[in-house]
Amino acid sequence: MAKTRTIEEITQKIEKNTAVVMTAQEFLDNIAEGEKIEFEDVDVITTATKGLMSGIAGIFSFRLAEPKKYRKFKEITLNGIPGYVGPCPNEFLGVIDVIVYSTAHSKTRTNYTGGFLFRDLVENKPIEMKAETEEGVVIEKMLSLKDMQFARLMGTRQAIKNYSAMMNPTKEYVETIFSALKFEPNNSQLTFSGCGALNPLQNDPDFETIGVGTPVLVNGSIGYVMGPGTRNYILKPNLMTIADFEGMKPEYMGAFMTSYGPEPICSIAVPFPILNEKILNNMVKSDKDVPLQILNLVGREKMGEITYGDVWDNNYLITFDPKKCIKCETCPVETDCPTHAFTVEKGIDKTRCYNCGTCIQMCPEPAFIGDLKSIKFEGKEVPVVLRQSDRFGAIKLAEELKSLILKGEFPLKESIAKIKFYKYKI
Ligand code: SF4
Ligand code: SF4
Repeated sequence: MAKTRTIEEITQKIEKNTAVVMTAQEFLDNIAEGEKIEFEDVDVITTATKGLMSGIAGIFSFRLAEPKKYRKFKEITLNGIPGYVGPCPNEFLGVIDVIVYSTAHSKTRTNYTGGFLFRDLVENKPIEMKAETEEGVVIEKMLSLKDMQFARLMGTRQAIKNYSAMMNPTKEYVETIFSALKFEPNNSQLTFSGCGALNPLQNDPDFETIGVGTPVLVNGSIGYVMGPGTRNYILKPNLMTIADFEGMKPEYMGAFMTSYGPEPICSIAVPFPILNEKILNNMVKSDKDVPLQILNLVGREKMGEITYGDVWDNNYLITFDPKKCIKCETCPVETDCPTHAFTVEKGIDKTRCYNCGTCIQMCPEPAFIGDLKSIKFEGKEVPVVLRQSDRFGAIKLAEELKSLILKGEFPLKESIAKIKFYKYKI
């Protein structure tokens, strides 16, 4: 007889403190140690990913003037970043609705984009706001998250079912979003994105668990899957989500400086209630089971294939040993760490560090410790120089989701509708 359980039964077990919740990383580690995990052994498994997700935008609404004074607002900047006013005009209400893209650049701050703004808001930093009414009146004031009646983060294309590795077969250095430093030529380096076996969609090949209305954690705040994201191709599905900025944690978000400009960081965790044996059987058992295509960074044609087991192997964290630092006249890591997480004086700020590994490449001494791995390609060893997904951060978010579920503070629910996918790439 098929073994099943319901969400209600899991909820009752949570209330009685008898539920077993494990992160996908714990599930993987247990299996790697030879443990066999059966349906009876686990009620919920939490998955997560933390990566560069350019398809995010902030939607905000707040009061800027008393009613009747101005017809409506026509322009706004936040820390110099232009927002899109509307769509509601809020005529004669003194209220502005605005959408800010994570990828929009500030006109007043160098290399400052929406991703940085969203993190600053969550850190409760004051934001310089400048708005203009249709009558030409300019209003300038400092704002913070608590002044906003509505502040939601919407993701138009998130948690993509893993990604790709990149190599540069050309003879030239290339500035690209796929590299923190200029990408070296002649297939001499490899960078990659994706959290491998921990990725939510990787664990749901038939889209049986994740659907419209599935509760998720976005940067630590409880949100929901709205449906499929843009370019939601069946072989590379992704999600559209929405979540309140209130409750987000800065360490899961922000921006990452690539050699072609900043890209926003976002983290998503998704629970898998183990309602039947098929859901458990679909959980990925090893990073070696998840393929990772190597693409030509110029043109994206396939050059080879490895697995996430070649690049992720309990090597998630990057640390700093101050005793090995020779205090160079100018520290390249201080100036070029993609998340501004490092100073020689204070070391790595772990609330900012993305565990990308760029510091290992930049520092002339063995002061940064991490095992970035290398792969064999056409008979030569090619080092991984950058991880554009932070598996360590994703594990932390999966642990946070586990803890919320066990405390009964996360709403476990089944989805209300299936996600639709394009059968072909658009
Ligand atoms: S580059 Fe390395 S050794 Fe030089 S100051 Fe920076 S951390 Fe220290
Ligand atoms: S791993 Fe190094 S370069 Fe990357 S974010 Fe952390 S300190 Fe910066």
